[in-house]
Amino acid sequence: MVPSFSYIRAKSLDEAIDYLAMDGARPHAGGTDLLGCLRDRVFDVTTVVSIAGLKELRGIEATPAGGLRIGSLTTIAEIARHPLIRSNYRALSMAASEVASPQLRNQGTIGGNLCQKPRCWYYRGEFHCLRKGGDQCYAVEGENAYHCILGGDNCFIVHPSDTAPALVALQAGVVIAGPNGRRIVSAESFHMPPSVDYTSETVLESQEIVTEIILPPPAKGLRSSYRKVRARRAWDFALAGVALAMVFNDDQTTEARVVLSGAAPVPWRSAEAEKTVRGSRLDRSRAARAAEAAIKDAEPMEQNEYKIPLFRGLIEQQLMAIV
Ligand SMILES: Cc1cc2nc3c(=O)[nH]c(=O)nc-3n(C[C@H](O)[C@H](O)[C@H](O)COP(=O)(O)OP(=O)(O)OC[C@H]3O[C@@H](n4cnc5c(N)ncnc54)[C@H](O)[C@@H]3O)c2cc1C
Repeated sequence: MVPSFSYIRAKSLDEAIDYLAMDGARPHAGGTDLLGCLRDRVFDVTTVVSIAGLKELRGIEATPAGGLRIGSLTTIAEIARHPLIRSNYRALSMAASEVASPQLRNQGTIGGNLCQKPRCWYYRGEFHCLRKGGDQCYAVEGENAYHCILGGDNCFIVHPSDTAPALVALQAGVVIAGPNGRRIVSAESFHMPPSVDYTSETVLESQEIVTEIILPPPAKGLRSSYRKVRARRAWDFALAGVALAMVFNDDQTTEARVVLSGAAPVPWRSAEAEKTVRGSRLDRSRAARAAEAAIKDAEPMEQNEYKIPLFRGLIEQQLMAIV
């Protein structure tokens, strides 16, 4: 049962930030993740601050620099079908199309998608795990088929968002507003690895709200893609996924960003895979070497070793598909 809480509809961004100073207050956008967390008692909330009425956080528009601004309340469905995103930032429209189900894409927002809580069944369940203030990660000795193979450190969640790896590949910026004004961080540094802080999934400080995503102008020759493998052909989170953003000049790859989903507690950028394909002609043997490089440091647990060949095949296939 969902515990009782106070509900406030903020009328402006400043008002929302002020309300979030209340002890136990949380922002509410589409509510598709927040309400599940309340029901499962993942965290305690006394006040839910709805930001859903803030028009300035909606919409998609071109920036004067030739990039794109996406308000944080823009729904995943709007992102999936927007013509400029489909043509210039294909990885993002492909990733958005892979999120959850049509109903959830219509209700869920991009800001909420980036800030959603992980799906680890120990964290979401009745276990007082490390991330919830306990003293151990139960996945280490427990059911770990869906946990991470890279970057686990002390907590072995996988980052749940499909749009986040695409945004990292496309070098997006995340604009954040809080009591001390606005700041912008790269999508790459927005999520918090457990090695730095295992109790927090993002760099958001208390009272801070994501207001927009900024995509840089697409480079000449940019091609991007996202592919996700899941356990079943219905809504599900990624077992393994890869976002690519590659710049081609004739048959040479001049720039490459390779970001994995379903692999690590944060969207996982593989510098080794990028180095293998950058500045060369991409053929099958190079794609295979890049895929191998991406998983070289993987440390699977008892039940998730299957992710290694899965990522190997997925990355190789996607690199060959983008040429
Ligand atoms: C059954 C199911 C399947 C799903 N499958 C997938 C999937 O395959 N891929 C995937 O990527 N996602 C998946 N999701 C997650 C879904 O996409 C998210 O629930 C949704 O995007 C969250 O958006 P929301 O607007 O509803 O966020 P909310 O539920 O309102 O908020 C989520 C969290 O983010 C915080 N928050 C919201 N907006 C902001 C903001 N602007 N600034 C700061 N904090 C904020 C809230 O406080 C809350 O903690 C699934 C969810 C469900 C329930």
